[in-house]
Amino acid sequence: MGKILLAGGAGYIGGHTAVELLEAGYDVVIVDNYSNSSPEAVRRIEEITGKSVTTYELDIKDTDKLENVFKDNDISAVIHFAGLKAVGESVAKPVMYYRNNIDTTLSLLECMSKYGVHNIIFSSSATVYGEENPVPYTEEMKRGTCTNPYGWTKVMMEQILEDASKADAELSVVLLRYFNPIGAHPSGRMGEDPQGIPNNLMPYVSQVAVGRREKLTIFGKDYDTPDGTCRRDYIHVVDLAKGHVKAVDYVFGHKGVEVFNLGTGTPYSVTEIVDTFEKVNGVPVPHVYGERRPGDLPESYANADKALRVLGWKTEKTLADMCRDSWNWQKNNPNGYNK
Ligand code: NAD
Ligand code: UDP
Repeated sequence: MGKILLAGGAGYIGGHTAVELLEAGYDVVIVDNYSNSSPEAVRRIEEITGKSVTTYELDIKDTDKLENVFKDNDISAVIHFAGLKAVGESVAKPVMYYRNNIDTTLSLLECMSKYGVHNIIFSSSATVYGEENPVPYTEEMKRGTCTNPYGWTKVMMEQILEDASKADAELSVVLLRYFNPIGAHPSGRMGEDPQGIPNNLMPYVSQVAVGRREKLTIFGKDYDTPDGTCRRDYIHVVDLAKGHVKAVDYVFGHKGVEVFNLGTGTPYSVTEIVDTFEKVNGVPVPHVYGERRPGDLPESYANADKALRVLGWKTEKTLADMCRDSWNWQKNNPNGYNK
């Protein structure tokens, strides 16, 4: 068995996946340009696992440089995490999002084809279900209409991978549709390290709790949901990372495209997140209710049956675990990896 190339492997989900793969006995190679991460994240992966990791600092869009990674290493599968992911920024800078997210995918596919690598796992998102589909989402639903360019890049990349698979009978593609990853490694040594003001709920909650921000604004309380705030399928990042280990096992014995939701199947509201965080950690999270955020859907959650049936994977961690581990990371690393 060759190595698993983790494109964007220094990031939040890639880093946790690197740890789980190394602990399961896989050999990994990380390629990242650190546009949204830092070399310190790789150092922490090595610290947690006690293994050293071959790492390349390069832009995956640069196919010539990427080729050297395939030349120098016996790669047997790729996991493609490398992408820009801030929804609001994608509305302001659509061209940058299309360029980065699509070109990284094409660059990886070109190198895979040239070096005879037939297996790819892709970080997709629940956002591809769009506005039309009813919750809970199941994998056979048609992709819907997205509300922002970030979402459209995911839809397009799924399509590109499907087309590549149709043209190459050898190719095995696994599309993983993540729901809302939160939490951190239980060691407190790895976690989410957003640059600037966080867009996502849990990093914002943690930064309010640690005193870096004054208060959380809960976006809307007049949705048609049990408490009027939006509901999401929050999943612990370590459970999500373990889902990738199962997907790697699967991708080798398979041909064609297979899609899996990676979620818990249970939605929680914004208010439930804030209440649970305050309760399990014993810290206040000052908050106010504000306007709805444009583009937010009232509810998004998975039907997670297929991943259990086919991959033998299901989540093990509770919402309390997610809130505890997020806080443990935040309070031990108040400024993220830039100590
Ligand atoms: P992240 O930003 O922490 O990780 C992405 C990594 O890719 C970063 O380390 C970044 O430096 C790297 N990268 C980006 N463009 C690159 C390029 N051109 N060349 C080399 N490296 C590049 O994000 P994450 O939360 O770990 O997400 C990983 C993937 O999962 C992304 O594709 C994201 O869209 C997808 N996803 C994330 C979420 C979420 O809520 N975090 C939800 C659904 C899907
Ligand atoms: N949210 C909020 N305040 C914030 C950030 C997020 O109320 O400062 C809400 C947001 O409206 C959504 C939920 O928290 O209902 C999760 O948002 P996030 O951006 O983390 O993920 P999304 O599901 O939008 O991708």
